[in-house]
Amino acid sequence: MKFTQKPWAEPFKIKVVEPLKVTTREYREQAMKEAGYNTFLLHSADVYIDLLTDSGTNAMSDNQWAGMMLGDEAYAGSKNYYYLESNVQKYYGYKYLVPTHQGRGAENLLSQCLIKKGQYVPGNMYFTTTRLHQELAGGTFVDVIIDEAHDPQAEHPFKGNVDLNKFEDLIKKVGSENVAYITVGATVNMAGGQPVSMANIKAVNELAHKHGIKVVLDATRAMENAYYIQQREEGYQNKTVAEILKEFASYSDAATMSGKKDLIVNIGGFVAVNDWDLFEELRNMVVVYEGLHTYGGISGRDMEAMARGMEEAVQDDYMAYRIKQVAYLGEKLDAYGVPMVKPFGGHAIFLDARRFYDHIPQTQYPAQALAADLYVDSGVRGMERGIVSAGRNKETGEEYMPKLELVRLTIPRRVYTQSHLDVVAYSVAELYEHRHKTKGLRMAYEPKYLRFFQARFERL
Ligand SMILES: *Cc1c(COP(=O)(O)O)cnc(C)c1O
Repeated sequence: MKFTQKPWAEPFKIKVVEPLKVTTREYREQAMKEAGYNTFLLHSADVYIDLLTDSGTNAMSDNQWAGMMLGDEAYAGSKNYYYLESNVQKYYGYKYLVPTHQGRGAENLLSQCLIKKGQYVPGNMYFTTTRLHQELAGGTFVDVIIDEAHDPQAEHPFKGNVDLNKFEDLIKKVGSENVAYITVGATVNMAGGQPVSMANIKAVNELAHKHGIKVVLDATRAMENAYYIQQREEGYQNKTVAEILKEFASYSDAATMSGKKDLIVNIGGFVAVNDWDLFEELRNMVVVYEGLHTYGGISGRDMEAMARGMEEAVQDDYMAYRIKQVAYLGEKLDAYGVPMVKPFGGHAIFLDARRFYDHIPQTQYPAQALAADLYVDSGVRGMERGIVSAGRNKETGEEYMPKLELVRLTIPRRVYTQSHLDVVAYSVAELYEHRHKTKGLRMAYEPKYLRFFQARFERL
């Protein structure tokens, strides 16, 4: 037998294990029904392979755990804060740091500081918590991502790019004084984990600054984005992920960060800025919503783990493993003809529920149904990213009908092996083969905010 490809493997070995519960199909059918066909409402103990999210579900290294013992839990001026600050300066290049309990804490502070009621906030596709904080601060989100991002089959290498014409049209239409700032998300979660090119963020920076508009980077997965630039963009092949990350961040004025993603920790986030006055305002706000400005709602040990995770995550061999593992699952499913978002994303594989369950109309929540079916079939937990996640228009009350109706299979960092992913691929392929047997859902309970977290459904 000959190998067709040079194999890759995890650049770490296993020191501690966490046993998993294996359940029967009948058990899972009951559990899914009790959870209202919403995978967010399952007990994690009932889940075999948990691909709900890569947020805070990462496996920390021995080095990070050792760092946890060096937590300086002083109320003010913790040494872990200064270490985190110096690493943010070193790897991202921002001058000032305000830690927060997680990404949405950072989004709240920044939105409150920068958005005046009635202003517009363009961005390369919405993210749930980001858009909500912008709206709660009185802003209106405007999607300025390129059209390809809304097409699951468009093979664009940088599908997360901002459409400069859409951005410029908005400025012309409403006036630059009515644009609070532009958010650039890297890699774009809701588009399927799609990266932004260096050329694009640079051009966004130039256009925004020409009109006196700030660029805010959603840096949650900017390291993963940097790896894509290294792999796909002319002129970056010989640069390290760390070098690319720093250049990328240099085209923004501020960043909000969920450390629970790129930084391989379980909790934490920050907002980082270059402008002293904005920093002052953020420091005034953080004490109201999070905690003192040198701990921002997390403990010293968590800041230490985040600072160490930053050093580990930016290594080229780690990042190559990370992205290749996700692609491994994608390639397996591709071999079975399963419809997915292409190219494969950085943190997840997105099943295209619209084509997968082409007999279920969007108003009967095909992606929600597919996520439920996958759990019942094999104990694998994914998440809906479609009409349920998109929610309702705050003016008209009507459901948004997003073009993308997806099930996200998100890969936690350093947690699962290739064998786990083989089990996932097998189950998805089985469901695809018998896809016409399933029916849609109706929503039985709808929460007011971010409904996808707690909504309940019934089988039609
Ligand atoms: C997770 C996430 C956030 C919010 O961060 P939390 O830590 O979950 O509060 C913001 N933006 C993006 C792109 C994310 O993936």
